[in-house]
Amino acid sequence: MTDPKSARSEMAQRFAPPPEISTAFIDNAILPPAAGRRLAIVDPATEQRVGFVEEADAGVVDKVVSAARLALAQGPWPRMAAEARQEILRRIASLIEEHAEELAFLECLNSGIPMRHLALGQIPRAALNFRFFADYIGQSSGQTFSQNPQFLTLVTREPIGVAGLIGPWNAPLALLSMKIAGCIAFGNCCVAKPAEQTPLALARFMSLIAQSGLPPGVVNLVHGTGQVTGEALVRHPGVDLISFTGGTQTGRKIMAAAGEGLKGTSLELGGKSANIVFDTADYDRALDAALLSIFSNNGQQCLAGSRILVQRSISRRFIDDFVARARALRLGDPMSPATEMGPLAFAAHLDRVLSFVEVARADGGQLLTGGERARGFAAGYYMAPTVVLAPSNAARIAQEEVFGPFATFIVFDTVDEAIAIANQSRFGLVCYVWSQHLQTVMQAIGGIEAGTVWVNTPMARELHAPFGGVKQSGPGREGGAASEAFYTSQKTSMIPRSTVSMTRLGLGGAG
Ligand code: NDP
Repeated sequence: MTDPKSARSEMAQRFAPPPEISTAFIDNAILPPAAGRRLAIVDPATEQRVGFVEEADAGVVDKVVSAARLALAQGPWPRMAAEARQEILRRIASLIEEHAEELAFLECLNSGIPMRHLALGQIPRAALNFRFFADYIGQSSGQTFSQNPQFLTLVTREPIGVAGLIGPWNAPLALLSMKIAGCIAFGNCCVAKPAEQTPLALARFMSLIAQSGLPPGVVNLVHGTGQVTGEALVRHPGVDLISFTGGTQTGRKIMAAAGEGLKGTSLELGGKSANIVFDTADYDRALDAALLSIFSNNGQQCLAGSRILVQRSISRRFIDDFVARARALRLGDPMSPATEMGPLAFAAHLDRVLSFVEVARADGGQLLTGGERARGFAAGYYMAPTVVLAPSNAARIAQEEVFGPFATFIVFDTVDEAIAIANQSRFGLVCYVWSQHLQTVMQAIGGIEAGTVWVNTPMARELHAPFGGVKQSGPGREGGAASEAFYTSQKTSMIPRSTVSMTRLGLGGAG
């Protein structure tokens, strides 16, 4: 097994220091720090500061939005042939692939997401986002209506303008790159804001954007907190639409602020997704997937299967096996290729996740393992994988999003009961269904209230298909045609096929 210390120092030597961090990336160049407020970037595995960002205040946000507006109004990007845009989008994807290791290292350094998860999942996904939308725009087309013999009516799609793209800290590059790719592919310009804790890989990615041949002003980025930089971006009159991924409370605030400017919003928010394991499931695969869907990405995923509903006849064995495997998870330095679970992203988040242990106990939940900081670490925001058996689905631990390595079990008896429990939630992002019995699967698909149902499948993403939630998991869809609908406006043009008859006014004389 690779020594974690040597993996870390070998990578730090090859890629350090992290990129010089500034306030913003504007017109394909870094805006150097001035006298603004400095925010520390901390490595959650060591609790050491690894850099800082300077917060972009309302004045800086205004300057960056103006650059994006200029690129939209006068730059070549919105007017370019699709082939030329496709070429640049594919070049961006190639640059991500060429710098995959460095981007993974930087992402790991400020988020604690294990390298193996980044190398196999999130970084390739960032490249795929650009390739996917490059291919997509080569095939998209408008509509023609010819039912009316007087007119040929064309419906074309145009860029909406400048988008504000706000990303979270749990998959910084993978999620914000999806928004950037979807936005610019259709000819828009954008200003992105990463979470203040995790700007490193995105800052490096901006320098790759500058190398790609993308015209200046198309992709810009501002650093800073949500309260200052994010608010200024959402409220700026030069921003036409907002795409946001993050917590439900923040989503509510953003939608209200954007609503004042009548801006379109796409919100992908929290979840408390049910992972339903029927006694007709392939037991071993369902067990593997249950662990994966709550503990991968250090448990910090909107699409986590955090409520595990298991049918009574197999519940004792399933829960025992799950707990044994949770205890055996390899916790450690996220830089080490062997690590399965790293630290939580930042100190306040660890405190928040730990606070749910008391919440569970107070409601009569049974703590089966974990429930404390992981032992054996001199530093780092490590939490022991935690499993709780809830007294019922009404318990807070079955209703609130924890966003950590924290699994809640609920036992059920019938298919109808499982569906009812899955739906008794204010969220509705995804749902996992494990059964080899076709009728059970079909009944579950039909009855479940969620944006995505994964059948006998762990987390998976099909970029052609829409992804998003129902209820408080947020209104909005990303992917394929859903992204096209969000990032473009439709224009109807009516062209007469012959001279159109008109009523003539003002010819009545003295009347
Ligand atoms: P937030 O939802 O607050 O953060 C997501 C992004 O929104 C960050 O870039 C943040 O900036 C920004 N932001 C915050 N407030 C505003 C605002 N008023 N206007 C514009 N932008 C804003 O996540 P938290 O870190 O507060 O996490 C809270 C909870 O949300 C988590 O515990 C988890 O339950 C959930 N969550 C869900 C995610 C998902 O993928 N669906 C992702 C992250 C969190 P900054 O952080 O720099 O202040």
